[in-house]
Amino acid sequence: MAVGAVGNVAPRRKDIVAKHVIVIGAGIIGASITWHLTKAGARVTVVSESGAGGVATPNSFAWINASWGNPETYFRLRIRAMAEWKRLAKDLPGLPLAWCGGLCWDLSPDRLEAYAAEHASWGYGIERVDARQAVRIEPNLAEPPDLALYVAEEGVAEPVATAKTLLADAERRGARIAAGTVDALALSNGKVTGVVVSGEAIAADEVVIAAGAGAPAIAATAGVKLPIETPPGQIVHSRPHKKLLNGLVLAERLHMRQTAEGRIIAGSDFGGGDPGEDPEATARELFAAMKAMLRGAEELEFDFHTVGYRPTPVDGFPIVSRAESVGGLYLAVTHSGVTLAPAIGSFAAREILDNERDPLLAPYALSRFAQ
Ligand SMILES: Cc1cc2nc3c(=O)[nH]c(=O)nc-3n(C[C@H](O)[C@H](O)[C@H](O)COP(=O)(O)OP(=O)(O)OC[C@H]3O[C@@H](n4cnc5c(N)ncnc54)[C@H](O)[C@@H]3O)c2cc1C
Repeated sequence: MAVGAVGNVAPRRKDIVAKHVIVIGAGIIGASITWHLTKAGARVTVVSESGAGGVATPNSFAWINASWGNPETYFRLRIRAMAEWKRLAKDLPGLPLAWCGGLCWDLSPDRLEAYAAEHASWGYGIERVDARQAVRIEPNLAEPPDLALYVAEEGVAEPVATAKTLLADAERRGARIAAGTVDALALSNGKVTGVVVSGEAIAADEVVIAAGAGAPAIAATAGVKLPIETPPGQIVHSRPHKKLLNGLVLAERLHMRQTAEGRIIAGSDFGGGDPGEDPEATARELFAAMKAMLRGAEELEFDFHTVGYRPTPVDGFPIVSRAESVGGLYLAVTHSGVTLAPAIGSFAAREILDNERDPLLAPYALSRFAQ
């Protein structure tokens, strides 16, 4: 079988025995790491409690962006991830991606101006728009903003379909996908040698924990502490409706977009709002606010709401690195996993197979928490 290069991962030679890697997790992060490892020639077994698509991933707003609120180092990783999505889309045609653009006015005018100035100086394709221009971008806004920022290069990846497409292609290339719960990591002489699933050990040369909110419990079985929080995030979904939105709308009151199947989804923030004491009532209120923001939405109907738990390292930044305190263990847990998935997949594959760490990952090793 011919083996090609993936991103910057060097192609494996056919005569070298392929490394066996177990990836725990079938969300967008596990799926991307699996695809990149498999494409680079590794033998991969995915072990996952959930079906393809994961746990946090199906509840995501799935905005791909390098928007406001982050330091430049993290902005650079996110920008690279946006470029990696385009590379991945060429390698794997049919990924459900849309570069639909984002219209943002969820900050005070002063802060919007500061965001525009900062990100423009960093090279983000950001454009100031007035109400007339906003209506051209989103004709169905009931009250267009006087000032907003538009970033044409932002987009979305329908998250479950993307994870499924990556895993199906990896499977076609030889990856094995097994249903099961990893109870513990198997250890020998300070090195992880595989995983234990329902009392049975499966051996591997290296294990990747891409298990989202389930990651800390698995890592703890090898004495590795993962400082992860899992804040809840609520998103409301309409029934499928004729097209009302062209792209992402990041308004003061809520963030919304229309999915590939025509549902309008919204959260009080893209990361999902706090569902409060009565999640159903909070969802209905949010849905009413969303509907009021749209012209032509008289027939838009509430369908359901989701509450997802975002796997979030306590400082808000990704953990993507080897464990260091034990051998044979790689960690990939992050918020913004939809934005970052192709970069994390490509970089992790290169580090695992070629021992080369991408400089963009420098701030994101687990070891930063030891300091
Ligand atoms: C409401 C909300 C909105 C969001 N909005 C955005 C956004 O707009 N843009 C963005 O980039 N990101 C967003 N995110 C974040 C993003 O969705 C997540 O970072 C991403 O989905 C995490 O993917 P994952 O693969 O790490 O985790 P998951 O999808 O949770 O997958 C974890 C996998 O590990 C498996 N697993 C766990 N424990 C075990 C075990 N012991 N044994 C076997 N398998 C196990 C699970 O079954 C699952 O398959 C949002 C998240 C939420 C919840």
